[in-house]
Amino acid sequence: MAKRIALIAHDNMKPKMIEWCHKNYEALSHHFLCGTGTTSSKITEATGLPVKAYLSGPLGGDQQIGARVAVGEIDVIIFFSDPLTAMPHDPDVKALLRIAQVYDIPIANNVATADCILKALL
Ligand code: PGA
Repeated sequence: MAKRIALIAHDNMKPKMIEWCHKNYEALSHHFLCGTGTTSSKITEATGLPVKAYLSGPLGGDQQIGARVAVGEIDVIIFFSDPLTAMPHDPDVKALLRIAQVYDIPIANNVATADCILKALL
């Protein structure tokens, strides 16, 4: 059954996200994809996968995705956060992690976990 998957990557992690989407193109093409603004447009540009874009993360995109989680409209989050760079929107990042935990949504913050979740969906 098609899942609603949110894709988010901080700037330094976008190449990794695009590589992961390329590698998993076939599997991802069976699901509904959405994501923060820049991540979404870069994935679509690089792979052709349709990704519904919310606002850019620092401008509220993480919060928009968190709101979708809260109303039961997101099934999985793949969030490649940058572990080595301080972010001005760190409170939004924390809020998204918290709301995913509250609603028991699988959330991957690295490739190994993203692979496990995607395999489980197949
Ligand atoms: P972006 O946002 O996809 O618009 O770059 C990601 C983020 O920083 O949360």
